Amino acid sequence: DRIARRRDREFNEFRKRIKDTERFKLEESVFDEATYAAIYKLVQDGHIDAFGGPISTGKEANVYTAKAGEAEVAVKVYRINSSDFKDMRGYLDGDPRFEGIGQDKRKVVMAWVRKEFANLKRAQKAGVRVPNPIAVERNVLVMEYIATDGDRAKRLNEVHIENPETAYEVVAEYMQRLYDAGLVHGDLSEYNIVFHDGQLVVIDLGQAVTKHHPNAGDFLERDCENVADFFARQGMDVTGEQLYEFVSGE
Ligand code: ATP
Ligand code: MN
Repeated sequence: DRIARRRDREFNEFRKRIKDTERFKLEESVFDEATYAAIYKLVQDGHIDAFGGPISTGKEANVYTAKAGEAEVAVKVYRINSSDFKDMRGYLDGDPRFEGIGQDKRKVVMAWVRKEFANLKRAQKAGVRVPNPIAVERNVLVMEYIATDGDRAKRLNEVHIENPETAYEVVAEYMQRLYDAGLVHGDLSEYNIVFHDGQLVVIDLGQAVTKHHPNAGDFLERDCENVADFFARQGMDVTGEQLYEFVSGE
């Protein structure tokens, strides 16, 4: 009990610290108690030392940079309350990794974050360059920060592409490798591919589904359209159908 009280006290102090100090730069409204607890756990486990600034405020999650010793990491914090969890629920359907999750909002978001972590691992294993996943705790994901001189790597929509043919080949190859590993990204476009150190890095794999998902085929078709349309705008003669054939082998 003394230990529990001490843990509570430490946690309260920590929470006060991240709410109050400039060092953590976190807006209070974003986080509920459980999120502070998750961040606290990640700090205790040595995955985060101090927050940098926000790099993105999305519909469902905010992404921050953080220090972890000498390294800088990216921390994606899903907001349990503003999360569009009904939509999220649909992406867990048919996924054998997340059977029986049910309808509870908190559980759905937590399963989603574990799914993003697992998808990153699987993509990595399949030979697709993604941010290295480091840790996951409840609604918080810690991963490698893809950055050049401290600034977040630019998305494909933000850079001038010198050689679209090569870039297209790489993306098509990544999509095929993902598919062979049983995954469809589900939100692939120039907005979820970043350019770093002469490499293309695929990000945002939370919604990626396994081939078992009832809409996996439609998602793949949409990904292929998005990617082919983008490269067509760069002057290439490619279509979504061609890419679909290449990726799925059908
Ligand atoms: P959106 O709804 O805008 O697609 P999201 O909330 O799903 O965003 P992500 O796409 O994963 O979140 O991240 C949002 C943005 O933050 C990305 O477009 C990218 O610029 C940046 N970002 C995310 N993860 C990383 C990372 N590991 N390294 C560098 N930048 C990142
Ligand atoms: Mn995104």
